[in-house]
Amino acid sequence: MSSSKNFPIKKSETEWRNKLNDEEFRILRQKGTEYPFTGKYNDHFDKGVYKCKGCDSPLYRSEYKFDSSCGWPSYDQALPGALLFIKDTSHDMIRTEIVCAKCGGHQGHVFNDGTTTTGQRYCVNSASIHFDGE
Ligand SMILES: [Zn+2]
Repeated sequence: MSSSKNFPIKKSETEWRNKLNDEEFRILRQKGTEYPFTGKYNDHFDKGVYKCKGCDSPLYRSEYKFDSSCGWPSYDQALPGALLFIKDTSHDMIRTEIVCAKCGGHQGHVFNDGTTTTGQRYCVNSASIHFDGE
């Protein structure tokens, strides 16, 4: 699916493996999921910008982050145009997968059960992002 799309940033599997560690590769490039409550940004609330671990593209601002208690970093929105939304019917569920619009890196899924004003919960793997503090 997304691997057949033309993302602006394209790398071979070898290039991605050289750039990412095993866990990051499994999540970003193979649509894996980290264990809940284990990611480094789950309880992280500093001010700044969260960027794609694969390509450094800014994806979320710290103001978008909220404590959802779901075990993964949660945002109520993303920066405009930063993500693409893909229908995901795996695991007998209909979900909306979110991927980086620049490199296609898997971020997680977006759900309509957010507790903030947007009503949305962007449920993201810590391994898919890195933080740039202000
Ligand atoms: Zn990216």
